[in-house]
Amino acid sequence: MVETAKTAETAETAENTTVVIIGAGAAGMTLGNFLLRSGVDCVVVEKRSRTYVEQRQRAGVVDTRGVRMFREWGLEHVVKDAASPPVITGGTWIDGVMYDIAFGDDESEAVFCPQQVLVRNLTNAFLEAGGDLRYEALDVSLEDLGTDRPTVRYRSPDGSAKAVTCEYVAGCDGFHGVSRASVPAGELTAYSHEYPYSWLSVLAEAPCAPFGMAIHDRGLAARFPRGANASRLYLQCPGDDTPEQWPDERIWSELGTRFCADVTTGPIVDKRIVPLRSVVFDPMRYGRLYLLGDAAHIVPPMSAKGIHLALYDTEVFIRAIVAKIKDGDGSLLDSYSDTCLRHIWNYQAYAVWITDLMHNAGDASYGGAFRKETARAELQRLNNSPSAARLFNDLNAGRL
Ligand code: FAD
Repeated sequence: MVETAKTAETAETAENTTVVIIGAGAAGMTLGNFLLRSGVDCVVVEKRSRTYVEQRQRAGVVDTRGVRMFREWGLEHVVKDAASPPVITGGTWIDGVMYDIAFGDDESEAVFCPQQVLVRNLTNAFLEAGGDLRYEALDVSLEDLGTDRPTVRYRSPDGSAKAVTCEYVAGCDGFHGVSRASVPAGELTAYSHEYPYSWLSVLAEAPCAPFGMAIHDRGLAARFPRGANASRLYLQCPGDDTPEQWPDERIWSELGTRFCADVTTGPIVDKRIVPLRSVVFDPMRYGRLYLLGDAAHIVPPMSAKGIHLALYDTEVFIRAIVAKIKDGDGSLLDSYSDTCLRHIWNYQAYAVWITDLMHNAGDASYGGAFRKETARAELQRLNNSPSAARLFNDLNAGRL
């Protein structure tokens, strides 16, 4: 139950709830829905506007584990997008020859669902269920995290000051958020790995053709659907490239060269350089603050596992918090970080392997000509390999 009181001297509105969720992205809105369905009070505090959050384009696939998890929680509809292709297809081209690398089998339930559609559907479900979601929260700060009653302070868009005291804070505010930054120095260990190449990431208003990944002497290229008339393109490039070096004509011509195919073009609405990094923070908690999703770790987009990990953390956390609040059993909360980290390191290992493999097989300036040839041999060996199919299925289903 959220109670409201006013403290006269500060003119600050003071409230209470059980969990404050910082951030209304994939992890935050999934957690909000699960908490409501579990009968646990929560308030979501988001620094951006609803329009901004629901239009932010990023990932495009929810994997088998995610689809099954939403189904179990009675939320299967949140991964449905009428504008996306119903079945995951595509392939990998090496110098123009298509290899149908076994990225799944009949067990796969992965679906195309652009991240902004997932977030929009989750937000609608949360608000329809009576959820408390506060957009455009300014100057969000987390206090008393080391006590059993932490407080989240922020200012509303009208300038009024708010303080929400709670039992737990869920830091779901991404890699650059305030949650992890609120942990005192020295409490968390950061493990990070920088890759010696970047991606030019482009959003185009054009149907996705060709579709998949291409390996070429000039580097990796990829193109994936983001709805009926939108696609995301990626081009491997040196880490110090800038978007200005990539006029639209160069992007389309380079995509065609690397795919060795004609490409469907359209207006380019966004282009940016994305440095490829793997980062993990350990432990994923401090006092009553628990870090979920990108707030605790990031994987390079080549692995396409950022959403998977955000949803995995969320499910571990909801089970732990419900066990504590409903049954007084804190053991799952105590092991939250260890449970998530075991899973995360397996996915980081996969992310490093697939990212290096796909990039080394392209432009020899990174791994050298010898590495390029071994990477190509490895990729061709993965084609129709039962053990590769098993690995991709295990990753998809969250069994690692
Ligand atoms: P986010 O989605 O970042 O949500 C965090 C929320 O917190 C945001 O709404 C933000 O506005 C809010 N916030 C931030 N600071 C504050 C604050 N101080 N106070 C309150 N709120 C705050 N993953 C895949 O699985 N597949 C892909 O193909 C893929 N492609 C990607 C492509 C790109 C270009 C990028 C950038 C990422 C990609 N990812 C992909 C990664 C994926 O998008 C992330 O892993 C995922 O968004 C993590 O979800 P999250 O909820 O943890 O964080």
